[in-house]
Amino acid sequence: MSESINDIEKFAKWKGIDRLEIDWYPKIEEGKCVGCGMCVTSCGRNVFDFDFKRNKALVAQPNNCMVGCTSCETWCVFDAISFPDKEYVKGIIKKRGLLNLAKKELEEKYQKHLETGNEYISKTLGFIGGGRITKIILQGLKRAKKMPYNVIVSDINTNTLNWLKEMFPEISIVPNNKKVAQQEIIFLAVHPNVIDEVLAEIKSYLKAGSILVSLAPKITIKDLSEKLDGFERIVRMIPNAPTYLNKGYNPIAFSEGISEEERMDLCRIFSTLGECPVVEEEKLEAYAILTAMGPTYFWFQFDELQNIGKSFGLSDQEINEGIYNMLIGSVKIFYESELSYEEIIDLIPGKPLKDEEENIRKIYRDKLGILFKKLKSR
Ligand code: SF4
Ligand code: SF4
Repeated sequence: MSESINDIEKFAKWKGIDRLEIDWYPKIEEGKCVGCGMCVTSCGRNVFDFDFKRNKALVAQPNNCMVGCTSCETWCVFDAISFPDKEYVKGIIKKRGLLNLAKKELEEKYQKHLETGNEYISKTLGFIGGGRITKIILQGLKRAKKMPYNVIVSDINTNTLNWLKEMFPEISIVPNNKKVAQQEIIFLAVHPNVIDEVLAEIKSYLKAGSILVSLAPKITIKDLSEKLDGFERIVRMIPNAPTYLNKGYNPIAFSEGISEEERMDLCRIFSTLGECPVVEEEKLEAYAILTAMGPTYFWFQFDELQNIGKSFGLSDQEINEGIYNMLIGSVKIFYESELSYEEIIDLIPGKPLKDEEENIRKIYRDKLGILFKKLKSR
């Protein structure tokens, strides 16, 4: 493992101090080293080399070692690695004024965050319910590198929580809702059937400055507020699955209790997940049917076309590329060309499913019409 020129340059100084002036690197007690290789294969700075003849680790590039790091001492279960007293490093930090330097570096970093808009979300987030939609939102935040430092999720199902924790190790999980209800932004991500029960449970824990974001259709801001004894800081959002890839379409509506500044702040957070248009609250149920459930009307058809493509002898890549581009092009021509519906339809003479079209349209009208009435019924 030879040292690259990049490494030499990269590690030549620590906080502006010539690295050669600092005696900080691991020492290996040869008699104790059994050659397990943990240090050699784990250190990210190429500090170690390995003597294969003698089956021993070697400190080959001592000055690559990160000043103050003792990770390899921890990894060596045979206690063969040691470091100087950590007070030595603390002494350097104090004597050389490195705290001021760190402060300056932090300010520069913050400035950069502001310039790039790549700020972390500083609010604490709670999710009541750790199911699908929580997973989708967390994945969107993580993918956008906007996962807040403090995210806590509750669910009555331990398996659901453990599965979520495995996917997002940075979150905290708890079996009850009390702590989640004390966060700054609380997502209500449970099935509508249990919402009344959950609201009764959390109402005494909500803080005056917290904001509750309900992800459920049907239950209005007024209903939610009444069930929370007049709590007025409520947002409703109807998220959709492409949020997973930050391509969501997630309409939101605010209660009167959310200030203009807070609305902008929330929109900034939600826009990391995709589009988040602010809409009239009474339209959210229509969006629930069109945009939240919408993908399910098409995905099985994509899947069936995949199967058919395969049976026709196309490779997976050919099918994926063909269908993906066909869909993007179809959407664009439907929404972006200035052609009427009749003119678009007329672009393709052969329509093998034409005889079934009216049946399919009727299915849409019947099923979605009934569902809409149900979501709107009080
Ligand atoms: S971890 Fe310890 S025992 Fe294993 S190779 Fe390194 S020094 Fe030797
Ligand atoms: S202390 Fe850290 S940087 Fe130094 S050798 Fe060990 S693992 Fe590598």
